[in-house]
Amino acid sequence: MEVPFIDIGAQYKTIKSEIDQAIQQVLEGGQVIGGEEVHDFEKKFAEKSQVKHCISMANGTDALWIALKALGIGKGDEVITTALSWISSASTILQAGATPVFVDIDISTGLIDTDLIEDKITNKTKAIIPVHLHGQMVDMIDIRNLCDRHKLYCIEDSAQAHFASFRDVMPSQMSDMATFSFYPTKNLGAYGDAGCIVTNDYKLEKQCRALTNYGNRGEDKQLGINSRMDSIQAAILNVKMKYVEGWIEQKRSIADRYDRLLIGVQEITTPSAKTEIGHTYYTYPVRCKNRNKLKEHLIQHGVQTTIHYSWILPLLPLFKDLNNKEEDFPVAYRYQNESLCLPIFPELAEHQQDYVVSCIKDFYN
Ligand SMILES: *Cc1c(COP(=O)(O)O)cnc(C)c1O
Repeated sequence: MEVPFIDIGAQYKTIKSEIDQAIQQVLEGGQVIGGEEVHDFEKKFAEKSQVKHCISMANGTDALWIALKALGIGKGDEVITTALSWISSASTILQAGATPVFVDIDISTGLIDTDLIEDKITNKTKAIIPVHLHGQMVDMIDIRNLCDRHKLYCIEDSAQAHFASFRDVMPSQMSDMATFSFYPTKNLGAYGDAGCIVTNDYKLEKQCRALTNYGNRGEDKQLGINSRMDSIQAAILNVKMKYVEGWIEQKRSIADRYDRLLIGVQEITTPSAKTEIGHTYYTYPVRCKNRNKLKEHLIQHGVQTTIHYSWILPLLPLFKDLNNKEEDFPVAYRYQNESLCLPIFPELAEHQQDYVVSCIKDFYN
């Protein structure tokens, strides 16, 4: 049996006629950048995220850079983020001209360890970027308290956490801004690149919009970029937004089922999802003994898995000048060697999931 990690084609088949029609409408209408579709998208996404403003853009990496620039963060500033994430969470800090300061993670969630943040705050610290990795939100009460105590900005990297919540609070509701990616594999994915920022702050909204639009085309001194969402991606996202909550529910059931099926497999630790957290299971990462050998065994049996991530950010060559040391990030280092993301997508069938689990059990027996 073959079990892919994710099956974008399978999902397309379930909504094919609506998607095809939406794309055709854009092409026939002739407005392929901006316009009604993009406007609709911003309105719907803001509504669903329970926030006032949504600014669409080309991808989730631009969204982080634009959020930093909108807050005026640059040379001489420090920005705190997690040791374990996708490269963009930290590379955009460098791109903005500031210095990323990394914090180790919590082994049970893979998220930034909020107890370790305060030690890293200096008089140069301007902001914290918590990353809601795997679809699970960081404790935003802890983050809010730290930001209030030290007068820091907060940008939530929510690229993996569309419609996630923490004690009923969604990304951006306890921070200055939240950034999203609609990369095709994300829980809400376009069929190409797309991203956005959401915020309740009117001034930040204006600022972000200008930054996506050539910095207002030279009408002020601002240095901007061209980062737009095209109308076809917006039309696709508008269709998908009708289904995304259902898909997230399906992923939650699959995650629950993995939790149950893997009870008793001593070599595997399933992800801990605290009940007050509205986990959306972008991924389902387990920690396991002999991770690399298990991954190899699964490949040989047709099961695709991925590692999120096979590096820790502080030790990447890109950040070499910061002289980060492995011993300062022992938990992230351990997590990176033990974690493995199992196949999870709404269309994953029970018999496929049973097969994944039986391959894991075979490996350890
Ligand atoms: C996907 C992702 C990004 C980047 O988004 P792109 O749209 O690919 O630029 C940033 N941060 C995290 C945590 C991500 O998972």
